Amino acid sequence: MSTIYRPKPLYNVFNVPLLGRLLKWRWGRLVFQIFLLLIAALMLYDGFTGPQFAPENLSTVITWVHYRGLIVFGFLLIGNLFCMGCPFTLPRTLAKKLAINGIRWPRALRNKWVALGLLVFYFFLYEWLDLWASPLLTVYVILAYFLASFVLEAVFQESAFCKYVCPLGTFNFASSTISPTQIMVADHDTCRTCVGRECVNGSTSTPGEPVAKGQKLINTDDIQILGCGTELFAPQMQSNLDCTLCLDCVRACPHDNVVLGIRNPLSELQNDAWPKRWDIAFMILIFAFAGLSNAFGMVPPVFALEAALGQMLNTAGEAIPLLIIFGVLNIVLPLGLGTAAAWLSRAFSKRPEPLVNTLSHYAPAFAPLAFAIWLTHYGGFHFLSSALGIIPLFQTFLRDHRLTFVGQPDWTLGPVVPFNWLDGIEFVMLLAGFAASYAVLIRRARLNGRKDKILAQLPWLLLLIGLVAAALWIFALPMEMRGSNFLS
Ligand code: SF4
Ligand code: SF4
Repeated sequence: MSTIYRPKPLYNVFNVPLLGRLLKWRWGRLVFQIFLLLIAALMLYDGFTGPQFAPENLSTVITWVHYRGLIVFGFLLIGNLFCMGCPFTLPRTLAKKLAINGIRWPRALRNKWVALGLLVFYFFLYEWLDLWASPLLTVYVILAYFLASFVLEAVFQESAFCKYVCPLGTFNFASSTISPTQIMVADHDTCRTCVGRECVNGSTSTPGEPVAKGQKLINTDDIQILGCGTELFAPQMQSNLDCTLCLDCVRACPHDNVVLGIRNPLSELQNDAWPKRWDIAFMILIFAFAGLSNAFGMVPPVFALEAALGQMLNTAGEAIPLLIIFGVLNIVLPLGLGTAAAWLSRAFSKRPEPLVNTLSHYAPAFAPLAFAIWLTHYGGFHFLSSALGIIPLFQTFLRDHRLTFVGQPDWTLGPVVPFNWLDGIEFVMLLAGFAASYAVLIRRARLNGRKDKILAQLPWLLLLIGLVAAALWIFALPMEMRGSNFLS
């Protein structure tokens, strides 16, 4: 029997003195966004005018070492911090104010397929064009983001860019499913009697006069705060999927009923919190396999494989071989193996349910391991091995601009922990991810009256074992450092 999952906060983050007030402050997010916008401006400046050697340019080092490392640690310890401070939404907010009457995002595209396609394409471009090695290409990517965000928000009513298009957002939504915080409501009875539903509709300066759904912000004097841009309704939220942690719902609720709750990081994965949809289920599987392919692109066997494929197909350059490798790893395997596992699992469980239900039921079990692979790569490897390199790099940048008081750069700075700790840290991260995935798998086999025996769980378990074994193998190989002067 299915029961509705209603998350309950173990603790309300807004009760933390100062931090709570800062988060709820009307301009709190804007301050965070402006801070990140200034960093983006600095990266653009150095990307266009600075040295075009990746380890010596702020745009490449901040993007490929610090941004990626900090966001994965952010998901693990707090939540979707990057979307919260995302500077790309600043021009979007301006676009919203300029738009007189946006149109709705096409119904056929209200799913994750476009964003998933762009995510896979982006990983391919990253590898093929060596984005990590080019400050100029890196800043073009940043500019393309600002432009896309601005145009889409000007044309469409809802936050279509965040919810349906942004590849980074897709990565962030998938990652935040294991985060220890979530938007929840303190009292569901208050929501039942709430007329305005301002958390999703937005609130006006006149209490009790909500903004009509989809209405645009034209005159800021009339409106205090926007409702949820991705159209989530706080009392019905069961998951972090699609939540940008903007906290607009918190500021809009006239009853002060929305909280940022601390939760068990596995809670949404161990309950029926996700819609039963192909795109959501495959999003998690692609997220897992893309974690492997992204790391595989930096170890020696990929170069041998590319050369062999190039020879076999009689083609010069790495585009075609890379397209084949990434196509197989990021599309064919997650879709093929996911569908096969769902089919076998359903056959063994003898449940007469649509295949999409079986797949959706077990897909959340992949989130912890998938995230662990990304954490190991971006956090355990790149960030911990070279993050302190930003200090001499920034000193050099300042000295190049005649600010010599910063002292002599020490280029031996880089690793956050001793190099010989990295293998152990990566090993622990991957095994912890696997253990959490296995725990979710066992729990889901018994969820809502389900009694799937070991045979019905086996296809999923084998897939998890295959993923973790492949990850352990890849991370044991020498890996390109990228964005750093150090060698692995
Ligand atoms: S969260 Fe606040 S605004 Fe939203 S339904 Fe509940 S009481 Fe109303
Ligand atoms: S307004 Fe929507 S996206 Fe923003 S924090 Fe609330 S639920 Fe999340």
